[in-house]
Amino acid sequence: LKSIPTTKEDLDSYEVKNNFHSWSYQPEKSPMRVVSAKGVRFTTEDGRERLDFSSCFVSHNIGHQDQRVIDAMCKQANELTSFAPSMSTKPRAVLAKMLAEVTPGDLSKSFISLGGTEANEAAIKIAHQFTGRRKIIGRFRSYHGGTATSMSLSLGDSRGWQQVLGGADLVRVPQPYCYRCMFGQTYPGCKMECVKYVDEVIELEGGGDKVAAIIFEPITGANGIIVPPDEYMKELRAVCDKWGVLMIADEVMTGFGRTGEWFAMNHWDVVPDIMTMAKGLSCGYLPIGATVVREHIGEAFKNTFFGHGCTYAGHAMSCAAAGAVLPIYQEDNLIENSRVMGAYLLDKAMELKDKHPSVGDVRGKGLFVGIELVKNKETKEPIMAVADRVKKGLNPKTAVGAKLGELGMMAMAANPSNVIAMAPALIVTKDEIDEGIAKMDEALKVADTYCE
Ligand code: PLP
Repeated sequence: LKSIPTTKEDLDSYEVKNNFHSWSYQPEKSPMRVVSAKGVRFTTEDGRERLDFSSCFVSHNIGHQDQRVIDAMCKQANELTSFAPSMSTKPRAVLAKMLAEVTPGDLSKSFISLGGTEANEAAIKIAHQFTGRRKIIGRFRSYHGGTATSMSLSLGDSRGWQQVLGGADLVRVPQPYCYRCMFGQTYPGCKMECVKYVDEVIELEGGGDKVAAIIFEPITGANGIIVPPDEYMKELRAVCDKWGVLMIADEVMTGFGRTGEWFAMNHWDVVPDIMTMAKGLSCGYLPIGATVVREHIGEAFKNTFFGHGCTYAGHAMSCAAAGAVLPIYQEDNLIENSRVMGAYLLDKAMELKDKHPSVGDVRGKGLFVGIELVKNKETKEPIMAVADRVKKGLNPKTAVGAKLGELGMMAMAANPSNVIAMAPALIVTKDEIDEGIAKMDEALKVADTYCE
């Protein structure tokens, strides 16, 4: 095995023949190989330096290759790489305490796993075990992960269509998607019909006897950077309290300063019963996810069997990486930078709306900004029908992504919506935003050619 050839051609062929590539038709040519990365930039095998405005699916919040995290990982590797989760390790104990400190309210007890989808699987199981009820409410246009139950809750995301789904007993409700309100309403005159609908759905589904939880992304990510109106969360909290339905906030993408607060839920001062996280928790330095519950839920498991686990739960290396990442948000003032630079990015993206016929809407919070592409601004006709997003070949959105690639920039252009998202690392500067916006301006000309 040590003599496996590794010329460029060899590596390309292994990629195509021996690797499955996520959420896509399998490529006939190997994708470009990345050889190094630093801060908000990465370098490909052709020697070209590129701007990373996707932060690797919104995970590398502190930027690439931060030496402080690498040192902490090396130190932990030399001490103890991992041990059975039935025993304690210092990095796991410390990380659980850090999470209790940074999460809102009395969220205080964590189950630490290996990624976002696992964090959500654990959340659903905790909700079932805590309430004794089966039904889970999810929202259309959501993504909660690729494993069976998380995927079955990822409603209206085209990635769910190919799956044999398992897990939860599901109920679907709409998003607070004001640009395309499913109730045909216009904010603020709508009286939050989307929340009233949740209340009615819970009642019709058997209320407090049957419905365990509602899971939602506080600001929806892959399905279009959907920011709820300010009243939404408090009103949803009141509906959940009325029925004893748990609120599960999936902060996998929005957590750790991405939206200008530690967690997106902080914007509305609402404490969910369970919060899930991954991505910015370790910023991709090692895989990790966490499911954090409020005190009374943690207490309820004192004398009850906790029916969940995995071999690498609370992996010492991953916990050490996350334990080095979290103080960096404070030390480097990154959450404030996300707020300030995010406002600048949003302003600049708004200017693109005036310039391009294909830009129907621009929205976001912090360094989490989306551009929704349309065929026609007046009618809001989507640039592409939902079903067309899973067809083979370039579509209007992936064509913009390809153009960005040519220009030396990566944004979130492959997600299952008509929204291109920009989410640079929280260390981004004004100059880097200007550079990214200039490239986006150029690439959007490709989308404009699809307009009527
Ligand atoms: N939840 C949300 C909101 C996400 O955006 C993602 C991934 O993009 C997940 C869950 C799944 O996380 P992972 O890919 O780490 O399993």
